[in-house]
Amino acid sequence: MIVDLHSHTTASDGILTPTELVKRAVNNQIDILAITDHDTVKGLPEAQQVIKDEKLPLKLVCGVEISTIWKNNEIHIVGLNIDIENAELVALLLSQEQRRIKRAIAISEKLAKLHIEDAYTQAQQFAKGDIVSRAHFARFLVANGWVKDVKQAFKKYLGKSGYAYVPTQCCSISDAVNTIHAAGGQAVLAHPTRYDLTLTKLKLLIADFKDCGGDAIEVSQSRQTQDDLQKLAKLANQFELLASQGSDFHDLVNYLDLGKTTPLPGSVTPIWHNWSLD
Ligand code: AMP
Ligand code: MN
Ligand code: MN
Ligand code: MN
Repeated sequence: MIVDLHSHTTASDGILTPTELVKRAVNNQIDILAITDHDTVKGLPEAQQVIKDEKLPLKLVCGVEISTIWKNNEIHIVGLNIDIENAELVALLLSQEQRRIKRAIAISEKLAKLHIEDAYTQAQQFAKGDIVSRAHFARFLVANGWVKDVKQAFKKYLGKSGYAYVPTQCCSISDAVNTIHAAGGQAVLAHPTRYDLTLTKLKLLIADFKDCGGDAIEVSQSRQTQDDLQKLAKLANQFELLASQGSDFHDLVNYLDLGKTTPLPGSVTPIWHNWSLD
């Protein structure tokens, strides 16, 4: 069975529309796909509709990837099997969206001071009317020749040491986990090895996540060494957490293709072990 529980569409900063993403998943013979856009569930109805209309052989899991702040680090919490109409979830996502808009305007103001004009409007065009993220600013900076690629856009302007960095204002891990649970879902700590934390700090993060009621950690993810996979499997078991896997697919340049993560080691319990698959 092929399972991918972390992916993005044009509803956030992925390059494929929900329809294109779902079709790619079917082509890649995926059995279970979660769409987990940043702080939004707006891509899901279109994906559900196309699966229904075209009777596609795919189980779609309603998901979201919520940005949170923990000890000054931006930590992502994925929610799986959520009710996308749940009032608490809708309210949290609305406040996250408002914070994102404020941040995008602040980034644009910083870029203007560097004589990079009109960045917010331009980034909005890359976002095609949906929420603007730093990934859209990066695409604008590349398209206009300010940098040679997205990586450099983050290094020079948008990342933590960039000229136009604006820290995220987002909710806490406990807000995210509680809201995911209120919406009937399970909470997963996304890509634990991508936060540049020492092992000691990473264990502290996982312990705090567990204390907040977190259910699982991503063990198999994009851009990962075998060592990291084994390390995360061990941590999942040590903290009695379930294991998830996901490509974090946004595009084919910077991420793994859908469904192409390494299978989970037999030592962990997959988060989908007790899901009903009809
Ligand atoms: P935001 O959610 O607005 O903070 O934007 C973060 C998004 O930008 C992430 O979800 C990634 O898709 C992308 N991103 C972050 N850092 C990098 C990087 N160094 N290179 C390429 N993309 C990045
Ligand atoms: Mn992203
Ligand atoms: Mn993430
Ligand atoms: Mn992601």
